[in-house]
Amino acid sequence: QQTTSFFKLLVVLVLGSITMHVSDPDVTSSLEALDLAGNLTFHDVSLAANDFGNRYQLLPSAVLHPGSVSDVAATLKHVFQLGAGSELTVAARGHGHSLHGQAQAPGGIVISMESLTGSGTRVHAGEQPYADASGGELWINVLLESLKHGLAPKSWTDYLRLTVGGTLSNAGISGQAFRHGPQISNVLQLEVVTGKGEVTSCSSEENADLFFAALGGLGQFGIITRARIALEPAPKMVKWIRVLYSDFTSFTKDQEMLISAEKITFDYIEGFVIINRTGLLNNWRSSFNPRDPVQASQFDSDGRILFCLELTKNFNPDEADIMNQQVETLLAKLRYIPSTLFQSEVTYLDFLDRVHVSEVKLRSKGLWEVPHPWLNLLIPRSRIQDFAKEVFGKILTDSNNGPILLYPLKKSKWDNRTSAMIPEEEIFYLVAFLSSAPASSGYNSLENALKQNERILDYCKKAGIQMKQYLPYYTTQEEWKGHFGARWETFAHRKSIYDPLSILAPGQRIFHKLG
Ligand code: FAD
Repeated sequence: QQTTSFFKLLVVLVLGSITMHVSDPDVTSSLEALDLAGNLTFHDVSLAANDFGNRYQLLPSAVLHPGSVSDVAATLKHVFQLGAGSELTVAARGHGHSLHGQAQAPGGIVISMESLTGSGTRVHAGEQPYADASGGELWINVLLESLKHGLAPKSWTDYLRLTVGGTLSNAGISGQAFRHGPQISNVLQLEVVTGKGEVTSCSSEENADLFFAALGGLGQFGIITRARIALEPAPKMVKWIRVLYSDFTSFTKDQEMLISAEKITFDYIEGFVIINRTGLLNNWRSSFNPRDPVQASQFDSDGRILFCLELTKNFNPDEADIMNQQVETLLAKLRYIPSTLFQSEVTYLDFLDRVHVSEVKLRSKGLWEVPHPWLNLLIPRSRIQDFAKEVFGKILTDSNNGPILLYPLKKSKWDNRTSAMIPEEEIFYLVAFLSSAPASSGYNSLENALKQNERILDYCKKAGIQMKQYLPYYTTQEEWKGHFGARWETFAHRKSIYDPLSILAPGQRIFHKLG
């Protein structure tokens, strides 16, 4: 705890030096003079200095609660007109679920995008249905509104209390991405307010460069105020299946076979790694039924590394028989440990909103607001075996403090005109170390988790694994150049067009506003 507090203090002190300029009374009064439908507050700003990572707390000077898109535009235009002589920066804050202060603006203005939900999500049914949602809308609300029309977005994140603009600024990945691509592959149109305060509508046909720049753009090119999201008919129910493997090669081969199937496969394919967990299957019993209860009760997970394949098949009640036949055919091709087949049937809504159940439990124990030193990597398929051998065999020796997700994605489902960076191979794996650090010392401490992350990154570097970080975190421009590789030029060029003064999303630490 002490180390964390000291670290936070150090960050605040270092960055505090650049906040001086912003508290300039002239700048404050010029901001106060803006004619806004919403409001700008200079007092209640501490919430905007928090995020899920709970490691960086950088106070802004002001928080804008926009009442309209014009408020966002007027504020950005004003900051742009202050020119390069001002150090004032602006960050859109979605639901603040970043990990390293990416939605913070030390000494600057944070725009609370959740205030901009406006007229809510509008659903357009028809042959190619879509939803128009505010950039500050939570995905759960987009889902609830779409379901009223029997529709739903196609591609998801595992957790739905994230905003549309927040996930589209990264990619938005979950177990549907192998079929539909990430969320950024399922957007038809955006409305973006650039770093010059210009409100621009864009799509793959109109202002395409800005459209693709903003998707996966880490908030660098503009603030997404509206997104048109492709929808599909929503199933009523989901068959949800978990099976275990002890052999990593069989686990990943089965995952790859399922995501590559030409015709019938599952609708959602993920996986996770379990290290030395006691009573694992007993925990599952509250939500899943074992196919073979006697054998399942004899299965012992202690001291082992296991790999769980998680699958779903969507269905409507009148299609249950066909769905069950298809599931049986698919399961028969897999090489999991037979006694570990667990299944359940839940509504589509309950499945998509599943992480909220854990959130409620963790919050009640005070374990949601702890530091989250997460590390998300995209590892090319050709190196996933080496990676697993080293990381699960040597670096992570004890039970992990939080889930480790591991599942394959397909490059062909991503659009390489967006700003998102992925490995070069057609199949690559998301490996997400979703650690919590509730303890001040010892195994569950922040210090320990950060050391483990460091060892994993170090291994990738030494072993020459051409991985990419997802939700990337770097502190120097050199590192960012390494992340973008040959595409850095495009990224920097787009920045010079859409946010030439580097006003936007300073918390990503890619560009620095000159003052
Ligand atoms: P914020 O943290 O508020 O913002 C993120 C960045 O985007 C900041 O730089 C911010 O300035 C910028 N930004 C925010 N809104 C806008 C906007 N409207 N326009 C332009 N820029 C904007 N990700 C996945 O892909 N898949 C998952 O399954 C997944 N699960 C998660 C589960 C949990 C519990 C958490 C905490 C995160 C998860 N994430 C997942 C990561 C998540 O997608 C990102 O952290 C995302 O940025 C969070 O959205 P937010 O609305 O909280 O954004």
